[in-house]
Amino acid sequence: MPSLPKAFTDTLHNLPGFREEAFLQVHASPERITSIRLQPQKIQDVSRLFPGVTTTPVPWNSYGYYLSERPSFTFDPYFHAGAYYVQEASSMFLQEAVRQTTDLQQPLKALDLCAAPGGKSTLLQGMLHPQSILVANEVIKSRANLLADNITRWGAENVIVTNNDPRDFARLEDYFDLMVVDAPCSGSGLFRRDPEAVTEWSYENVILCSQRQQRILADALPALKPGGVLIYSTCSYAREEDEQIMEWLMDHFEMENLSLTIDPSWHIITTITEQHKAAGYRFYPDQLKGEGFFIACFRKKGTAHPPKKIKQQITLVPQREIARIRPWLKDAEGHMMMEHQGEVILLTPQTAEELPLLQKNLYLRKAGVKAGQLTTKELVPDHQLALSTCVAEDLPAISLTLDQALHYLRKDELQSGTDRKGWTLIRYNGMNLGWAKVLQNRMNNYYPKEMRILKDV
Ligand code: SAM
Repeated sequence: MPSLPKAFTDTLHNLPGFREEAFLQVHASPERITSIRLQPQKIQDVSRLFPGVTTTPVPWNSYGYYLSERPSFTFDPYFHAGAYYVQEASSMFLQEAVRQTTDLQQPLKALDLCAAPGGKSTLLQGMLHPQSILVANEVIKSRANLLADNITRWGAENVIVTNNDPRDFARLEDYFDLMVVDAPCSGSGLFRRDPEAVTEWSYENVILCSQRQQRILADALPALKPGGVLIYSTCSYAREEDEQIMEWLMDHFEMENLSLTIDPSWHIITTITEQHKAAGYRFYPDQLKGEGFFIACFRKKGTAHPPKKIKQQITLVPQREIARIRPWLKDAEGHMMMEHQGEVILLTPQTAEELPLLQKNLYLRKAGVKAGQLTTKELVPDHQLALSTCVAEDLPAISLTLDQALHYLRKDELQSGTDRKGWTLIRYNGMNLGWAKVLQNRMNNYYPKEMRILKDV
C-alpha cells in the first residue's frame, strides 16, 4: 500500500480518538480483514460454510463473522446461493444502531437511499419486522443493476429496488419510518482495502463530498416521517463529512440526535459535536477489527400526519391461474401475486399495498420476487424464485457436487442425471442455485447469463 500522504494525515491530528502512531502502523501492516454476514432466512450455522477456515463472531452483529483467511467467494456456490453477504465488519454496526433507535416489533417503511451494492439493504432486510417494506435505492443505473442482483441472491419478497436521484424522494412526503443514508464519501476509511484511493485523496474532494452529502440529505429528508429515524454513515474520517454534517443537519432541520449505548469492549469512539453536543460514532482500524467508519442517528421532530392512500391497486393474477402457481410456493396463502406484462410477481401484502404509490413516484428496477412467466402451458420459473425464501422445498431437485455446481454457475452444458422430465431446482448442499429443465437426452441450464461465473479458477 502507498504511504499515506502528509496532506491527508495532517487533517487527522485533532480528530476524536485518533492515535497517530497506531493508525500509521495499521496502514503499513499487510493484515487484511475478511468478514461475512449470514442470510439468517437461509442459513443459521456458519460452520456449514468455508471448510478449513476459522470463523469468529463480529461483536456488534448477530449474523456477522470474521474469516481467518479470504476464500475465493467467486468459486463458492454458497455465495451464489445468497447464503451470506461479504461485508466489511464496521459497517455491520448498522444492526446495533437500528436496534437501539427503532421499534423492530412494528412493521416499518424503510429506505436505504444510497444502497448499491447492497450491504446495508441486506442487513436491514434481515432484521426488520417481516411485514416491513424496504426501498433500496441507487442513483447510478449500472450500480442499481448490481444492487438488484444482490437482492435477488438474498431472496426477500419485501424489497423494492429503485433507481432514482435523492431529490425524487421529496414526492413521498413524510413517508418513511426509517431512512439510512450511507453517503458517497471521500473514502479514507477504506484505504487499507483500496490502495488506489490513497493516491486519489484530496482535501478539495473532501469538501465536494461534504457539499454533496448536504444536498443528498436536504433532498431526501422531506420523505422521512416526523418521528422517523435517520441513520447517516460514511467511510470517511473527515470532520467535514462526519461531525460537521451532523451540526449542519441540526442547524437546518428539526432533527434530534439519538445517542447509542456502546459496549466499551468494542473500542468504538464516541464523538460529541461542539455546537449541538450531538453524539456520533467513529471506527478506527487500529482500535477495532474493521475499517474506518462513521455513524450517527437522529429522529425527525414533529407529529406524523395520517398516511396518504392511493386508489390504484396492483393487477392481481386471475383466481383461475393461482392454482398453477401454488405448488411452486412454500406458503401459497401468504403472498399477493401481481401480474405484470405476463409475469407473476410475488409480494408481501404490505409491499403490494404500497407499490402503486411507489410506482407512481419512482423508477422501479425490481419489486418483490419474480415467480416466472405464465404461458398457456406452464409457469416458466424465474431465477428470482429459485433464490427466494418463498420457493417450495418439495419441488423436483438435483444436488450437485462442488465441481458440477461450478459448471452450472458458469452456465456450461449439463449431463442429465435423472429420468424425471421438466423443471428442476439445482442445489448445492441443500441450497438452491437456480433452475434447469430436463429434456429427453439432455438438461438445459437456466442459470442467468448475466450472473454466470466468468473467471477461470
Ligand atoms: N450502502 C452501500 C452498501 O452498504 O453496500 C454502499 C453505498 S456507497 C458508500 C454510496 C453510494 O451512493 C454508491 O453506490 C454511489 O453510487 C451512490 N451515489 C453517488 N452519488 C450519489 C448521489 N449524488 N446521490 C445519491 N447516491 C449517490
